[in-house]
Amino acid sequence: MLCNCYLLNCEEYNRMSEKKTEKKTKSKTVKTEEKDAVKETKKTTVKKVTRKAKAEETVAEVMVAADGKVAEKAKPAKKAAAKTTKAKTAAAKKTEAAEEVKAAAEEIVQDLGPRRSVAFIGSECYPFVKTGGLADVMYALPKELVKQNCDVKVILPRYKCIPWVYQEKMVYRGEFYMDLCADGRQFYVGIMEYVWDGVVYDFIDNEEFFSSGNPYTNMVDDIPKFCYFGKAALSALLYLNWIPDVIHCHDWQAALVPVYLHTMFENTGLANSKTIMTIHNLRFQGIYDIGTVRYWSGLPDYVFNKDALKQGYNDANMLKGGLAYANMITTVSNTYAGEIQSEFYGEGLDAHLRYHSGKLRGIVNGIDCEIWNPETDERIFTNYNVEDVIEKKKANKRALQEELGLEVDDGKFVIGLISRLTNQKGLDLLNIIVPDLIDGNTQLVVLGTGDSYYEDSFRYYEGAYKGEVCSNIMYDEDRAHRIYAASDVLLVPSLFEPCGLTQLIAMRYGTVPIVRETGGLKDTVEPYNMFEDSGNGFTFDGYDAWLLLDAINRAKTLFFEYRDSFDKMVIRDMGKDVSWENSAAQYRNLYLQLKPE
Ligand code: ADP
Repeated sequence: MLCNCYLLNCEEYNRMSEKKTEKKTKSKTVKTEEKDAVKETKKTTVKKVTRKAKAEETVAEVMVAADGKVAEKAKPAKKAAAKTTKAKTAAAKKTEAAEEVKAAAEEIVQDLGPRRSVAFIGSECYPFVKTGGLADVMYALPKELVKQNCDVKVILPRYKCIPWVYQEKMVYRGEFYMDLCADGRQFYVGIMEYVWDGVVYDFIDNEEFFSSGNPYTNMVDDIPKFCYFGKAALSALLYLNWIPDVIHCHDWQAALVPVYLHTMFENTGLANSKTIMTIHNLRFQGIYDIGTVRYWSGLPDYVFNKDALKQGYNDANMLKGGLAYANMITTVSNTYAGEIQSEFYGEGLDAHLRYHSGKLRGIVNGIDCEIWNPETDERIFTNYNVEDVIEKKKANKRALQEELGLEVDDGKFVIGLISRLTNQKGLDLLNIIVPDLIDGNTQLVVLGTGDSYYEDSFRYYEGAYKGEVCSNIMYDEDRAHRIYAASDVLLVPSLFEPCGLTQLIAMRYGTVPIVRETGGLKDTVEPYNMFEDSGNGFTFDGYDAWLLLDAINRAKTLFFEYRDSFDKMVIRDMGKDVSWENSAAQYRNLYLQLKPE
């Protein structure tokens, strides 16, 4: 499907683990530990109670109540600690503080409602393997769900290209043979486990399917690979005797899971688990001829009918089957949930989606605010926060200009573009207007890989506008962070955009997004209103190059002529909530809806 596979390097991993070790060694004395524990309890309590309060729309009251509770809790803890300081040993005090934390945590857990277990099944997950936004979601959503009283297991292929730094930490959990194909051919399934931040990652091991250098290659190989993966994921759950309340499947690569569950697994322990099928990008559906899919999946003939897997005369569509059999369908924004039911955005499945619209919901994505945090981000030149963003962004801009060989001048208007270079991303519009953008005061920085047509055209512009256009035709996570931090605006002129993460990251870094009003871009970027001085970015509706140019020119006018208003928008953007907290709560509510008992 996509080819710009990014693998987290060892350096990054080491940085993360160094940070953790550093934190641990800092709390040296028992006294400090005790204080920290009480503080931490208070923080967690307030945060979690706030979350609940939001749901009940009584934030203020509950905050006060929570604070009171914590203060009450902290008082006896402190008193007790004071009494025991003399009498007890340091070790005993430590235990007491830890019990305080545990008791408070248990109380809060009850507040969040019943615990739910969820198995995430998908084909990529940051930081093990990433080609796009799906990997970000597969990492950040489980991490947030764990904080919201869910047990989450993420099931992934164990690709050979997963960096060794992770491979070596995986623990062997078992192996078995599974029949897969219509003729009952047996295949090896190994399970390797890695636990991180409260999330359990189970990797399905089979060299035959997962040994290429890229998660996706071509449909001839990918169809058998993901038939195998779907069935192996369910078999692994049975093998591990881990029966989740909900099985949450992501994109076509996991779409056979609901189909298997209602056919070959209907008499197993998993029969009562409910399924959610999330569409991250409807363009990719896993379509191939029926004969091949039927052989590799081993699924019974009757699922290859026009209401489930069959498409057209002779094709099978794996996503279509998953949508038909799933208990619930979600996609990654409300607007996209509506759009995909229309012919223009429906990618041939609009009628199918209209038919199933009763079980279709849109839940917008968030971003991981720890990874994307300009205040702590080690990959950017100068850290900043909402207080000093205006000055510090200029420092980041100058450093990036120097790194990329652009004219160093923080007065220039720097436009960033971080994207897969495909026609989905609106690059045809940008291609037309690049000459009109470059006016002596503007610089364009592109980071992306993809179709050679777009790669070449951006290379051409770099040559034609030396010092003003820089085209980084590569996949580079570090450079992406630096571009987010240094740019004044970020372009996302997509033809369609299920959710889009780059505009969310941009706002977190005080970079004003310029987006087309489609999908998640429409749901997350409020257009600038010059009368009220409100909004988060500049938007345009029709898929038209001149409308894009107009939006960029509106941004330029604000930047050059009304800098105060532009700066206020930068600050507003940094304050916008783009975290997973709200959206994860919506997923949790869906799980509870599907499995109330
Ligand atoms: P999609 O999933 O359609 O590619 P999203 O906006 O949902 O688009 O997610 C894109 C993710 O990939 C973001 O985290 C973005 O920063 C990252 N990304 C895209 N291209 C590159 C690149 N060339 N180098 C580094 N990161 C990239």
